[in-house]
Amino acid sequence: MDCCTASNNTKVAITECPSCGGKGKTVQLITLKSLLKASALEIIEPVNSYLFCSDSACSIVYFSGNHSQTFLENDLKVPVYQKNQGADVPVCYCFDWTRERLLQSVGTNQKPSDQIKVHVQAGRCGCEVNNPQGACCLGNVNAFVRDIKEV
Ligand SMILES: [Zn+2]
Repeated sequence: MDCCTASNNTKVAITECPSCGGKGKTVQLITLKSLLKASALEIIEPVNSYLFCSDSACSIVYFSGNHSQTFLENDLKVPVYQKNQGADVPVCYCFDWTRERLLQSVGTNQKPSDQIKVHVQAGRCGCEVNNPQGACCLGNVNAFVRDIKEV
C-alpha cells in the first residue's frame, strides 16, 4: 500500500477528540508502534482504533476511538509538527524538511514540494512510520511554503 495515494480506499473514520472536540483522523497502528516511546507503547491496546488530533491548540496527539486512552507530544519520540512551533521540527518527516530548511529554500531555486513529490512518486516515502499524522506531508509542506511567501 502506498501511504501517499489518495485515501479513497483507506478507511477514514471521523471521531471527535476527547479534549478539543475536533475531528480526529484514523492512523494505522504501525504509526503508533513506530513513534511512541516505550512507556506509551507498553500500554497501547491493539484492538483499539487510534486517531490523530491535528488541532495545534490541543495537546492530544493520539486518542483511542473509545476515548479510554490519550497520548501527548511527550509520549512520542519525535516532535509533532501540528503541536510544536519549533524551527527544527520536520514538516516532511521522510525527507527531513524542517521549517528552518523550508524557510531557507524560499528565495533559492529549490522547490521542496517538487523534490518531495519525485521521491513520493518513486515510492520512497514512509509517512506511516515517520510522520506522526501517519499520512503524506505534502499538504503541510505546500501550506507552509505558501504562508512563507505571503508574509
Ligand atoms: Zn484535540
